[in-house]
Amino acid sequence: MKNYSGVMVFVEQKNKEIHRVSYELLGKARELADQINEEVVCCLCGPSEIDANELIYRGADKVFHVQDEEIFGNPEVMTYVENIVKIIEEKKPEICLFGATSFGRSIAPRVAATLKCGLTADCTGLAIDEEDMKLVQIRPAFSENILAHIKSQYLPQMATVRYKEFDEAKRDESKTGEIINFSSVKIKNNPIEVLEEITEEVFNITDARVVVSAGKGLKSPEDFKMIEELAAVLGGVVGSSRPLVEDGFISKAHQVGYSGNRVKPNLYIACGISGAPQHQAGMKEADMILAINSDPSAPIFNIADYGIVGDIYEIVPQMIEKIKNKKA
Ligand SMILES: Cc1cc2nc3c(=O)[nH]c(=O)nc-3n(C[C@H](O)[C@H](O)[C@H](O)COP(=O)(O)OP(=O)(O)OC[C@H]3O[C@@H](n4cnc5c(N)ncnc54)[C@H](O)[C@@H]3O)c2cc1C
Repeated sequence: MKNYSGVMVFVEQKNKEIHRVSYELLGKARELADQINEEVVCCLCGPSEIDANELIYRGADKVFHVQDEEIFGNPEVMTYVENIVKIIEEKKPEICLFGATSFGRSIAPRVAATLKCGLTADCTGLAIDEEDMKLVQIRPAFSENILAHIKSQYLPQMATVRYKEFDEAKRDESKTGEIINFSSVKIKNNPIEVLEEITEEVFNITDARVVVSAGKGLKSPEDFKMIEELAAVLGGVVGSSRPLVEDGFISKAHQVGYSGNRVKPNLYIACGISGAPQHQAGMKEADMILAINSDPSAPIFNIADYGIVGDIYEIVPQMIEKIKNKKA
């Protein structure tokens, strides 16, 4: 059955820039490939100007570069799917990894459905079972209460992996590999036509180095001003727990957690947040967590590096003042 071999990473690019999730996948792919003694290959769909060597420096042995300025210039999903499916059918990788970004999440299920194989979405861990050498795809289930370990019955074994779950692959310019160019396939009678791409400044919490989040301890939407001010003096951005988003205090783009954004800042300040597992799912990987809560038994203190038991309406203004004074 096994004429499949190699761990393939789908490389996400926009405007010729490679998304960081691809480097995170490459780091993990290298680890898995070394365990099963196979190659790491990349599937890169994009214009020729993208430097495919960068993927080799980050651990790929081969890059299948499907070059086309025109058709990969816009994020038209069906064209990507067609080209990725063609590469997979031809090269038969044993494992295929996609980033669980919004683009990766639109591509991967369509690729899996076309190839009639399984897909484990939103993995937070990947490992090789030493007994059967199969990919173990680990992801939270039942509102993050258990970690499911899933194995695919079919090849290729396919998964999407959450952004910021793994460290980026280290760069080594002495590493060599092979870049193989492919010509693109155009879809006949494509029902989708991109007329115009409307880009707007999108709030991006996932890359922030400091996130100051508020929870139900905040009494009114206006009170977000003090959270914004604390974030501003620290050079950070504002986050929120889900109930405040549901109450219309702030937009969903700010929500941190299982059904919101996953953040990994240097500093996460949780103001009036109890620390439910679904909130922790989005922030527990922060380098440092400071929690401010009036209830000393709040679960957030179990994962916090520093905790202040007190009222956010007293503590936050004091913090702002102290930081401002220190800067003056
Ligand atoms: C499928 C599913 C997905 C979910 N996804 C998410 C998600 O993505 N993100 C998310 O956040 N939640 C999510 N939730 C909801 C989650 O279970 C919790 O209900 C939510 O995180 C609680 O938000 P909170 O901590 O702001 O509110 P609460 O749990 O009500 O906590 C408020 C805290 O504020 C403290 N407090 C009150 N007043 C003050 C004050 N003046 N000063 C200091 N402290 C004060 C209280 O002691 C309390 O600990 C999800 C739930 C489900 C079922």
